[in-house]
Amino acid sequence: MNLDGHDEPWRRVARAAGLLGPHDDRGAPSPTIFAEMSALAARTGAINLGQGFPDTDGPASLLADAAAAIAGGANQYPPGRGVPELRAAVAAHRTRYGFDLDPDTEVLVTAGATEALTASILALCGPGDEVLLLEPYYDSYVAAVALAGATPVPVPLQWPSFTVDEAALAAAVTPRARLLVLNSPHNPTGRVLSVAELDAVARLAVAHDLLVLSDEVYEHLTYDAPHVPIATRPGMAERTISVSSAGKTFSVTGWKIGWLHARADLVDAVLAVKQYLTYVNGSPFQPAVARALTLEDWFVSAADSLRAGRDLLVGGLSAAGFEVSVPEGGYFVIADAAGLGFADGRALCAQLPTLCGVVGVPFQAFLRPGAAASSLVRFAFCKRPEVIAEASARLARLAG
Ligand SMILES: *Cc1c(COP(=O)(O)O)cnc(C)c1O
Repeated sequence: MNLDGHDEPWRRVARAAGLLGPHDDRGAPSPTIFAEMSALAARTGAINLGQGFPDTDGPASLLADAAAAIAGGANQYPPGRGVPELRAAVAAHRTRYGFDLDPDTEVLVTAGATEALTASILALCGPGDEVLLLEPYYDSYVAAVALAGATPVPVPLQWPSFTVDEAALAAAVTPRARLLVLNSPHNPTGRVLSVAELDAVARLAVAHDLLVLSDEVYEHLTYDAPHVPIATRPGMAERTISVSSAGKTFSVTGWKIGWLHARADLVDAVLAVKQYLTYVNGSPFQPAVARALTLEDWFVSAADSLRAGRDLLVGGLSAAGFEVSVPEGGYFVIADAAGLGFADGRALCAQLPTLCGVVGVPFQAFLRPGAAASSLVRFAFCKRPEVIAEASARLARLAG
């Protein structure tokens, strides 16, 4: 049995993610750019500002609570919707935005935000449906849309402001549009959408009866203005699935504890799929995350240290000759290498470790396959200050 010459779903996914050519029906997909760049960093000893994972641990009490939960025997399957303690904690945490959620019917614990997003798309979209994505986008969205057999419809956010263009978004909506995936604070641009932008999206969603899948994994990592969930905007509570995760919030990206909240029947629909993807995960981590969701001081200090990291890296990139779009949230900054003489960010990223000992990810990785070459590069600043300072000093070599 060979896998060539048959249009298996994995090939559809790899093509949508740009890991196979449009007509490749033989051979294996190329590795993701994130794996490739991390391997390059490991091989060359370069500072890895490619993949977005922090290099410091989460709150000590969170780590101790998880260790105690394992020692205390919380090691068997948790309930399918998640441990009641965590569902209650998510509902309590979301009261800060004005939500009044029923933890038994309107909250679902998932294997990271990734499963919440993928299970939602698989549950609600199929062949013939179109899914609107703000482009650049987090890579798992298109993969899930392709797996569902639905069609991604990317709507570009333009450098350097990356603001939502209401007219462009409206022009992209067809009668087949079913779902819009929103991500604020946004990866990779660091945009935190304004209330005016959220309301533009909300008007469109209401007018065309779209569902909105709102990826809010960076909700606590905002540096200038607080996060506003789109589900709080007029007409949106009943049509939004709001997604978040412990990974980015508490610097425990390997734990894969995520959650979503939505109208009870939407939660039931997503659960119908989720229970056959992972069923459940992370029983000792769930009660630990529940307790951590009350650590208000952590939210403040995490945002403060990332804001300092942002300022440090923005300064370093600017000094090195990049033009920078200053991020308002999240882990990443987008920088333009055109002024340094690099028209193609992919070529620059391949050379960057040898040129100066730093790794970044080309912006192109977040665009539809076949998009025109871009001189933009994404760098992560979720690293210790001394690491960012050293990376900045190395990048300064580019300025000659
Ligand atoms: C990291 C990330 C995720 C994945 O979150 P997990 O909880 O690790 O699955 C989802 N969306 C965005 C935008 C991210 O940056």
